[in-house]
Amino acid sequence: MHSSTDTQNTSLDFSSLNLPVELLENLSSLGYEQMTPIQAQSLPPMLAGKDVIAQGKTGSGKTAAFGLAMLEKLQVKRFRIQSMVLCPTRELADQVAKEIRKLARTIHNIKVLTLCGGTPFGPQIGSLEHGAHIIVGTPGRIEEHVIKGTLKLEHLNLLVLDEADRMLEMGFEAALDNIIERTPVDRQTLLFSATFPKQIKVISESIMTDPIVAKVSASEDKTSINQHFFHVADDNERFEATRLLLMANPVESTVIFCNTKKETQAVCQGLHNDGFSVLALHGDLEQRDRDQTLLRFANKSVAVLVATDVAARGLDIDSLDVVINYHIAHDSEVHIHRIGRTGRAGSTGKALSIFSDKESYKVGLLEDELEQTIKAELLPTSEVLAKPRLQAKMSTIQIDGGKKQKVRPGDILGALTAKGTGDINGADVGKINVLDIKAYVAVNKKVLKLALKKLSTGKMKGRTFKVRHLTV
Ligand code: AMP
Repeated sequence: MHSSTDTQNTSLDFSSLNLPVELLENLSSLGYEQMTPIQAQSLPPMLAGKDVIAQGKTGSGKTAAFGLAMLEKLQVKRFRIQSMVLCPTRELADQVAKEIRKLARTIHNIKVLTLCGGTPFGPQIGSLEHGAHIIVGTPGRIEEHVIKGTLKLEHLNLLVLDEADRMLEMGFEAALDNIIERTPVDRQTLLFSATFPKQIKVISESIMTDPIVAKVSASEDKTSINQHFFHVADDNERFEATRLLLMANPVESTVIFCNTKKETQAVCQGLHNDGFSVLALHGDLEQRDRDQTLLRFANKSVAVLVATDVAARGLDIDSLDVVINYHIAHDSEVHIHRIGRTGRAGSTGKALSIFSDKESYKVGLLEDELEQTIKAELLPTSEVLAKPRLQAKMSTIQIDGGKKQKVRPGDILGALTAKGTGDINGADVGKINVLDIKAYVAVNKKVLKLALKKLSTGKMKGRTFKVRHLTV
């Protein structure tokens, strides 16, 4: 293996890369002024056609790194499956597909298809029959397609394993083997991972050819996260500390990580009883409820999300302001992954970790891992509790119609901003998500009543739909 150090002193301008002009122009229109460290390290060898192992945590700009390499290599006129990205979760696959489409928006007719579990198989076969250039999906479902022969990979020349460590943790190794076996051996392979357990090394040796390692040193990593640690005596104090920290750090989006499902529910319930805008995310939820919770947190109609590590996999929200660790994570890698959800490309994040004497040894391990001394800080005083509890700015309205009913985001926005009884400004309308048979729109709380009225009486696609406000 070689290390990609030769790029260290070179320019961070995208224009220093040999990228097609339409891709470069699009990058500046997206506001990507300069390469992030992982992009500067990995893009030159990737564009040279080499296999690359890259340390890519969420927020580092890793998706754009492999996305650009992919688009540069793609021959649009050959309507064949040429590239594939394997991701651990459906949420991550959706985000990766979204970012690739964003990067490709100046190139006509690029077809990106997502293939994930938890969605019906049949329609995916139909989409595959229509063809695609790029596949993004989760290993289980893609394995099913390759075994059934509905997905043929004989023209694949670029394979990306995204968040490879998570995929292994989730037990996808056999599925990955089955898929990779059916791809051409002369393909280019890129592996992105936040951490590098032994298993990754073993896998990379078996599926990659002479890979270049692109690693970003801590000092180069501009995604800075301010970490603060707080000591508590027991679990009662732990809950109290959480309330104090939430109130002393009033931001739009906070995730609280718990080590168990039971604790997630208890903390959520406690905060809910105290008047916070909060939801829990854990493995016992139905996929539908899980999707709805993620969607409501992402569209800012819930201020606090209490989650287990497993449930939060793939959670990728641009502006996650604060992460609170209710307990220190069981191991340092999980801790680093948790706090990596704040401090996205270029911005500063905040991670607040609570620990008791019982967890001191974990703090010691973290000190080794982070190469820094950890000192507990004083908790905020209870004066912060005099203020009203954290509330979300937006509210979510559910509409009983989606893609199947041909509802599009523009129809919803149109119905909301239509002139008539009272006006709603476009600025008061937030994220719109149209799913198969339902759609969700976030509106500013100030206009909630009016928005409900307009959506329930106004017509979309020539008919009215049932709507309801999702309360926390
Ligand atoms: P990722 O690590 O791929 O999840 O990317 C994190 C965020 O950074 C995404 O919202 C990207 O759109 C954004 N991003 C990626 N590359 C750049 C760049 N060079 N400059 C600014 N933002 C970027």
